[in-house]
Amino acid sequence: MTAIDAAFYTSMLLIGSNLFGFIYSYFVLNTNIFAKYRIQNKPYPKGLFWSRMPLFLFNLGTLIALSAFGAYMMFDFFDTKWPAWWIIPVQVLIAFVIDDLWFYVYHRYLHENKFFLKHIHSIHHKATTPFPLEYLYAHPLEWMIGALGPVIGFAVVMIFMPMNIFAFWIFGLLRNLHEIHIHSDLKIPIISQLPLLSTTKHHDDHHARLKGNYSSTFSWMDRIFKTELKN
Ligand SMILES: [Zn+2]
Ligand SMILES: [Zn+2]
Repeated sequence: MTAIDAAFYTSMLLIGSNLFGFIYSYFVLNTNIFAKYRIQNKPYPKGLFWSRMPLFLFNLGTLIALSAFGAYMMFDFFDTKWPAWWIIPVQVLIAFVIDDLWFYVYHRYLHENKFFLKHIHSIHHKATTPFPLEYLYAHPLEWMIGALGPVIGFAVVMIFMPMNIFAFWIFGLLRNLHEIHIHSDLKIPIISQLPLLSTTKHHDDHHARLKGNYSSTFSWMDRIFKTELKN
């Protein structure tokens, strides 16, 4: 594998997961297939999907460009062999925990600082009833701040051992799919009840009520800092 291969596979992975998010959103918005799983039941305004598209594509383009560039530039620091069985779960878990800590802190700050809430984070909160691809609907500055979370997570892994490229890809894919999932407004059996992970309702309530439930991947930070919304 070369650095160009790593950049190419990274791009393909993100294009693939977001193509899934695109098709999933299309079905959520335009068919009744998922209607029985909806949490809020509010109708989506007509034309919403396409009106969101320019910012979706801009942020997705930024994500793909930065991830592919990162994979290319960091290639010499990656372990590119298939590793011992425990390496991938451990590295993915560390990256998720660090990324979630980062997410909680900056996300809560974007709410508590009224200037940032009004001028930056309000864009993501135009979605009071989100649909899957709306995880991409955020101010580009917020999007870039969010992208630092995985970078810090990988840096922490690299204090202890080389980052494995398969762990890097698996983390990226799962992180992307989880974001699509928690913005879906759907309570799908089994995948909405995976142990440790936050539920769709956790982030859906955050969108519906504009406060509380600030964490994303897990929900323990909201419990520790008493920002969990009660129903
Ligand atoms: Zn928010
Ligand atoms: Zn959100």
